[in-house]
Amino acid sequence: MTTTYCGETERLGPGQKAVCGQKTPDGLHQCKHCAQREVDDEQMRKAALSVARVAHEVCGALAVSRGDYSSKPWESLDSVDQQQLQSRVMVFLNNPGLHPTADMGNAVATLSADDRAAAYVFHGVVHAIAREQSRD
Ligand SMILES: [Zn+2]
Repeated sequence: MTTTYCGETERLGPGQKAVCGQKTPDGLHQCKHCAQREVDDEQMRKAALSVARVAHEVCGALAVSRGDYSSKPWESLDSVDQQQLQSRVMVFLNNPGLHPTADMGNAVATLSADDRAAAYVFHGVVHAIAREQSRD
């Protein structure tokens, strides 16, 4: 996890100021704004990991429905594969207009009908959960 500093001067109290990213006796000062953004980012990553799991398992069930048992359960994926699915979720969440197969580049042309269906289901699950979570 990267720590960010904006360089802005923050007023801490009467006559007390600190610059975000500047040395203090307690280490580098980080302003409230940067600290909050990191908390938000961390929550976003955690949420994206949960969504990735659900989308992956729904796609796995879809594969099983046509007799394809090659999809591994979430727990059996290594962390790189989990992170790849997590970042795929974040790409879709950060770009709501992105087409379900947009992140596959030139590979789109070689997708089977089953792979294409899985891409649409993955994309659909991500946005369905995002809509549900943003509902008041
Ligand atoms: Zn800052």
